[in-house]
Amino acid sequence: MKRREILKTLTMLPLAGSIGNSGSIVQSVQAAPLLKRDVFSEFGLRTFINASGYFTSLSGSLMHEEALDAIRDASKHFCRLEDVQDKVGARIASLLHAESAMVTAGAFSALMLGMAGVLSGNDAKKASQIPFLEGSGIKSEVILQKAHNDGYAHALKNCGVKLITVTTAKELENAINENTAMMYFINYQATLGEIQHAEWLKIAKKHKIPTMIDMAADLPPKENLWKFHDMGFDLVCVSGGKFMRGPQSTGILSGKKDLIAAARLNAPPRGNNIGRGMKVNKEEIFALYFALERFINTDQDQEWKMLEDRITVIANAASSVKGVKAKVIPLLLINRIPTLNISWDKSLIKLDNLATNLREGNPSIEVMGGPDGSINVTTHMLKADEVKIVAQRIKDELTKAMV
Ligand SMILES: *Cc1c(COP(=O)(O)O)cnc(C)c1O
Repeated sequence: MKRREILKTLTMLPLAGSIGNSGSIVQSVQAAPLLKRDVFSEFGLRTFINASGYFTSLSGSLMHEEALDAIRDASKHFCRLEDVQDKVGARIASLLHAESAMVTAGAFSALMLGMAGVLSGNDAKKASQIPFLEGSGIKSEVILQKAHNDGYAHALKNCGVKLITVTTAKELENAINENTAMMYFINYQATLGEIQHAEWLKIAKKHKIPTMIDMAADLPPKENLWKFHDMGFDLVCVSGGKFMRGPQSTGILSGKKDLIAAARLNAPPRGNNIGRGMKVNKEEIFALYFALERFINTDQDQEWKMLEDRITVIANAASSVKGVKAKVIPLLLINRIPTLNISWDKSLIKLDNLATNLREGNPSIEVMGGPDGSINVTTHMLKADEVKIVAQRIKDELTKAMV
C-alpha cells in the first residue's frame, strides 16, 4: 500500500461518519478528500530528536524502510504462523551459525521462552504447568553469577525457577545438582564476574547443563550475533528493536534445535502456556528478518566512522564555548556505540539542567544525563540532518548560560 493509501484508510472512519447518508461508506471514502493525519499532533504528543539512544521508554529505535516494507507486504495475505516461524527461523539460524531460531516479542521474551523450553522439553503437559514447578518433576534452579543478576533475569523467574547466584568457579561446581535446569550468563556484565564465557561453558558441558546468554543490546559488532553460538552457548537472546532497528517489539532466540522447538511449545500460536501473551505476528517476523539482513550486510566500519564523525561535529560545537569539555567516553559492552560526555566549568557557565532545557526547547532533544550534571550524547538514533541541529542547540544553551 502506498503511503497516501494508508493515510486514506486511516482517515476512513471519521470521514465516513461525518458524511452521513450520502451513499455507501465505500463510495463516501472514495469521494472524500485525502486528509493527512499526524498521529503525534492529533494526540498531543511531544516528538523529539533522539540523541540519547534506543531506550524502551523513548519508543526504541526507528525502523528501517526494509522493515516497514516487510510489514506492508506481509499484511496483505494470510499464512500459517507456524510456517512463518519455520521458514524465517531457518534463515535466521543460518545467518547466526545456529541450528535453529525463532522470533520473539523482544529479548525479554526470548529469555522467558528459552527458559520455558528448557523446563518443558517437548512435553506439552509440562509446558502447561509452568510457572508452578512444585511437584511437577520439572527442574527448578538456574545458576548465574552474582554480578549477572540484573533486572532482566526476572524473565527467568517468571517461569517459576529459583535463581542461585555464585561468585567463584568452585561455588559454581558446588551449586550444580540434579535440580539445576540451566546456567545463565549476561554478556554485558562479563567483566564484572569472575567466571568468563569459556570457563562457564566448560563447567556446564562437564555437567551437561544447558546454557543461555543474554546479549540483548550488545550490537555492534555484528559478529556478536554468531560469536556465542560458535563458543557453544545453547541459547542466545538478542533484541530486534535496538541497534538492529527491526520492530521494537521483537527479539531473536537462537540455538539448539531441540531447545528452540521446546521454546515454541511455550509460545503462540499454542495456548495454555506461559508465552501465549507474547505474540509476534507475520508482519513483525518478516520485518525483523529484513532488519537483521540489512544489519549484517551493512559495512560496519563505515557506519562506525559515520557515528564518530557525527560525534566530532557535536564535540567541536560544544567545546567552542569557553569552559566546556567534550570527551568521548570509554565503550561499554552494552550499547557499544560512541558516546560523548559534555561537561563545563561551573564557575564560567551557570547551567544546572542542560538535559531539561534541551528537552523543553524547540525542537525538543533527548540526551542522557551524565555524572555531575553533565550530559551524554549518542548519534546512532539521529537522522543525518539532525546532527547539526543538536550541535547548535547544545552550543546555544551553553553560550546562553555563560556568566
Ligand atoms: C534491552 C535488554 C533486554 C530486553 O530486551 P527487549 O528487546 O527490550 O525485550 C534484556 N537484557 C538486556 C541486557 C537488555 O539490555
